[in-house]
Amino acid sequence: MASSLRFRGAASGLRYWSRRQRPAAASLAAGKDLAPSSPVPPPAARFSRLTSEEIFSRAALRLGRCLKPNILAGVKAWRLLPLPLAPLVLPSLPLLGIQMDDVQRPFRDLGRVCSRSMASKTPVGFIGLGNMGNPMAKNLMKHGYPLIIYDVFPDACKEFQDAGEQVVSSPADVAEKADRIITMLPTSINAIEAYSGANGILKKVKKGSLLIDSSTIDPAISKELAKEAEKMGAVFMDAPVSGGVGAARSGNLTFMVGGVEDEFAAAQELLGCMGSNVVYCGAVGTGQAAKICNNMLLAISMIGTAETMNLGIRLGLDPKLLAKILNMSSGRCWSSDSYNPVPGVMDGVPSANNYQGGFGTTLMAKDLGLAQDSATSTKSPILLGSQAHQIYRMMCAKGYSKKDFSSVFQFLREEETF
Ligand code: NAD
Repeated sequence: MASSLRFRGAASGLRYWSRRQRPAAASLAAGKDLAPSSPVPPPAARFSRLTSEEIFSRAALRLGRCLKPNILAGVKAWRLLPLPLAPLVLPSLPLLGIQMDDVQRPFRDLGRVCSRSMASKTPVGFIGLGNMGNPMAKNLMKHGYPLIIYDVFPDACKEFQDAGEQVVSSPADVAEKADRIITMLPTSINAIEAYSGANGILKKVKKGSLLIDSSTIDPAISKELAKEAEKMGAVFMDAPVSGGVGAARSGNLTFMVGGVEDEFAAAQELLGCMGSNVVYCGAVGTGQAAKICNNMLLAISMIGTAETMNLGIRLGLDPKLLAKILNMSSGRCWSSDSYNPVPGVMDGVPSANNYQGGFGTTLMAKDLGLAQDSATSTKSPILLGSQAHQIYRMMCAKGYSKKDFSSVFQFLREEETF
């Protein structure tokens, strides 16, 4: 009954938006993006051009995916049924050996997504206002989203409170007040605490809530959190980011998103306010997988660049000249041409600022640990990745933990014993 009410509510929402949002709907129908001046799609615009027959047809199509293969042909025929016949057909499904839950789920999901999208500028929860979370949350504010804020470190919330955003005292309180929540936390342990802890999100999460974790954590933990969220009727997606604090400030992050594909558009609406690329990777955990692979390659290429530059300098080459030659040759990579680790070679990078800011050595060591765990569980050889992990761990032990990860150049220079 509840699900059918939600479905009817969604359908009336469609009519409302089809009157109010015709231009946006028309450009979407024509396959065009919305104008750059309105980067956030109008609420429910993506539903506005659906007739009730199309809604039923889509729901039936999704329903078909849930059913046993030997009755799929029959299900395809239902798609042709007009909406008024649905109440007659649906009750007879159990006789065909089809679970009613399989039938109801598509309608439930559709209603849930519609109601979230229609409430487009309702408050968004944000947990973890550190180096990355702070500018990301500010970009949501710029796009007009009121925020419900929490961080274990109260000072991190202060400037948001001063700006009029609502600060609460636990992740559970965030979940009580917002049905879309973004988390940006340092490690897997912090994410477990924020979601499943005594005052975690899942203690008070509302049914149908969308939970997006942008922290870089173990993909296995993302999958576990998704299962726990599902038990509470919520949807969890992993959406770790590439791009550092600068990209977070300018709203140019790349998000790698894992989770239920049908929820991707809802996640994209928020993530698009904070990033220029929002990429769907597959099932939950695949966003983390993509992120971990990228960072392992980044660590290896940074160490390679640092070693190369150090060797060249000791052979008497001018570092700027060497960087120039590398960057016009086959050794070029992001670490050499955009984030060179040698002081004096480039402006505006951490090496030009005593390795302050940027992406911390501790975080890189953590990501390499995640790569190591994933390699062990998938029996993948990561010879250079493991070596990079050891180097970054050693750096943490030798006082580099708070410096940017490109400080590996300084570390190698000072280590005469290698
Ligand atoms: P950070 O340490 O600066 O910020 C994390 C924030 O989370 C802090 O304010 C901390 O107080 C808060 N926090 C910790 N545990 C909490 C909890 N249980 N509940 C509520 N708040 C909690 O870290 P960051 O640099 O913002 O990085 C966040 C994530 O983004 C990490 O997983 C990191 O690997 C990833 N990342 C960072 C960068 C970067 O350049 N810094 C780039 C890409 C990805």
